Amino acid sequence: MYIPYGHQSIKEADIQAVIDVLKSDFLTTGPKVEEFEKKVADYIGVNYAVAIANGTAALHAACYAAGISEGDEVITSPITFAASANCILYCKARPVFADIDKETYNIDPEDIERKITNRTKAIIPVDFTGQPCDLDRILEIAKKHNLIVIEDAAHALGASYKGKKIGSISDMTIFSFHPVKHITTGEGGMIMTNDQKLYEKLKLFRTHGITREEKYLLHGMEWENQEKTEEKKQKEENSLAEKWKRDPEDYKGPWYYEQIELGYNYRITDIQCALGISQMDRLGEFIERRKKLVEQYNKAFSDCADIVIPKQLNNTDNSWHLYVIQILNHSRREIFEKLREAGIGVNVHYIPVYTFPYYQRNGYQNVYCKNAEELYKHLISLPLYFDLTDKQQAYVIDTLKSLLK
Ligand SMILES: *Cc1c(COP(=O)(O)O)cnc(C)c1O
Repeated sequence: MYIPYGHQSIKEADIQAVIDVLKSDFLTTGPKVEEFEKKVADYIGVNYAVAIANGTAALHAACYAAGISEGDEVITSPITFAASANCILYCKARPVFADIDKETYNIDPEDIERKITNRTKAIIPVDFTGQPCDLDRILEIAKKHNLIVIEDAAHALGASYKGKKIGSISDMTIFSFHPVKHITTGEGGMIMTNDQKLYEKLKLFRTHGITREEKYLLHGMEWENQEKTEEKKQKEENSLAEKWKRDPEDYKGPWYYEQIELGYNYRITDIQCALGISQMDRLGEFIERRKKLVEQYNKAFSDCADIVIPKQLNNTDNSWHLYVIQILNHSRREIFEKLREAGIGVNVHYIPVYTFPYYQRNGYQNVYCKNAEELYKHLISLPLYFDLTDKQQAYVIDTLKSLLK
């Protein structure tokens, strides 16, 4: 028996939903994409949603839509998956790491403020384990310094902050549907926003920057650019319009489309979205079970001086992607190895991102986030997923407790 740290839950209805799409006319970019977007947007209570190839592509798209580019700095947490920072590098900007709060393990707003320079363009807070960050404070800082907030909520589908669902609060919020996350589409992600312009940019970015929408044709994204001078606008229109004038019939027919930005092929398939729609029906029970398992872990460890259980704030409702503990007074490595030997797929979330060789080679040798590095020494993630049985969980608890004796 091997118990992983995370696992998808697939039932007959999920399988049937995928089969139905395979028998339909659309395998990709059909009706299921919008249906999935609408279902998640309605659940969260947000105006716009863009389903995309994966959570990393969602972060890349959000950075692009935010206008992040060369010379910019973006502040994020070191205790996260590499993608939260890599998306900044994709846009040729520089990730800046703010330290975490010792108790919640989420990014510390005070350190965000210390790291702001005149190059700072955005903040990417991460709702680590599914517990929302101090969003009021972060949004207040963002407003004061005119920054965009892209919330990495890959862990936090279904979580809420002061009664508001995660996904409805920041300028943009991203989710991931990787199999270890709350719901899965195999690979998949989504960006949520209430801003129509950001929404339109995100959609363009997902498909090569190509569009057929009349309002963009000839003008590109400049339809929204207020700063553009009349003269400049006229010049551009003339050059393109000249082409059309020469051969208006042949140039712009019903087939016509334009590439107006440099996007990617980041589309998600109908096959994946059908699975996502079916998984959304079960999100409630997924979260309920995760909460129950967490309660049982917390109770079992309440008398262990060698374990620090995850601290929860009263104003947040964690949807529990990960259950992360700190091991004190023992070798974390030894406990980790013994748990693995016992068939328990523990893990460590996360290695501080800036310590990776790629970052070290690229100017991060002197970065030091004290709280992140201290935490990293003690972390272990225990198994947490819908299909984890009480019996399996009891085995995890008993094995760990006996190792700490
Ligand atoms: C999973 C995850 C991502 C990336 O999602 P993918 O769908 O795997 O690309 C980004 N950020 C965090 C914090 C994650 O846990």
